[in-house]
Amino acid sequence: MDCKIYTKKSFPDWIRFKVPDTNEVKRVHSLLEEIGIATVCKSALCPNRPECWSRKTATFLLLGDICSRKCSFCAVKKGQPLPPDPFEKDKIIKAVEIMGLQYIILTMVTRDDLLDGGANHISEIVLSLKEIFPERKVEVLVSDFQGDVSSLKTILKAKPDVFSHNLETVERLCPIVRDKKCSYRVSLDVLRKVKEISPETKTKSGIMVGLSETRDEVLQTLKDLDGIGCSIVTIGQYLQPTIRQLHVSDFISPDEFKFYEEWANNNLSLKVIAGPEVRSSYHADFWCKEQKE
Ligand code: SF4
Repeated sequence: MDCKIYTKKSFPDWIRFKVPDTNEVKRVHSLLEEIGIATVCKSALCPNRPECWSRKTATFLLLGDICSRKCSFCAVKKGQPLPPDPFEKDKIIKAVEIMGLQYIILTMVTRDDLLDGGANHISEIVLSLKEIFPERKVEVLVSDFQGDVSSLKTILKAKPDVFSHNLETVERLCPIVRDKKCSYRVSLDVLRKVKEISPETKTKSGIMVGLSETRDEVLQTLKDLDGIGCSIVTIGQYLQPTIRQLHVSDFISPDEFKFYEEWANNNLSLKVIAGPEVRSSYHADFWCKEQKE
């Protein structure tokens, strides 16, 4: 990829960085530390934290914070993951209760080291949340489980409201942006199989732009996702988390994001949520309800 080096000073003015350091953010941070659980919101210093937390939404990072894959855009630690925390379920339940979360997103590092990829661990947490808080929504944002159908079935038997798995990028860039064990086609197949196994489960995916993909490639990705019955797709600007990850190739204008939303609205069945600040979980509670029937 031909990438220029951008510094924060050269970012276009539509990219916002300021995280309001409100008392509420501090309060939630110390609460999570006390309980001993990780959220992606906090680990990735997501600028949308105050908004999400005030909407009673948060994304928990399950199965540790060390990933068995090495995607070149991702700042999560890589290496030999630790055994799953047997008390993680109780910690999540406690956090949901204390934070009063109404929309819970459970995400994970990829665990190729575990026989089931961590599916049982996630499934048990979803089952407990559904049992204790039947009126609250649970979304899982999970790995590809190497396309393993029994792991997908294990997750789906817990009946998450939304099954999310990110393609992350267009097909041509997948070998550069994602780990070599990841595959655009396997990821599409995972979302297709989920609809086959559990047609009533909403499926969702996400891609980042600004990695040198073309508009046609983005549209093709949307068509591919529409073709396998995916309901919601998020498109957001890629931002280099630290100097060790891929450089930003270009900043996509707000008009281009709008174009993707409108094009999908006019040509496809799925709903696209696109914008520079959009992340996989951005306003997930709202879009889950508003998605096109
Ligand atoms: S699999 Fe997920 S968590 Fe692991 S490196 Fe890739 S994007 Fe990051």
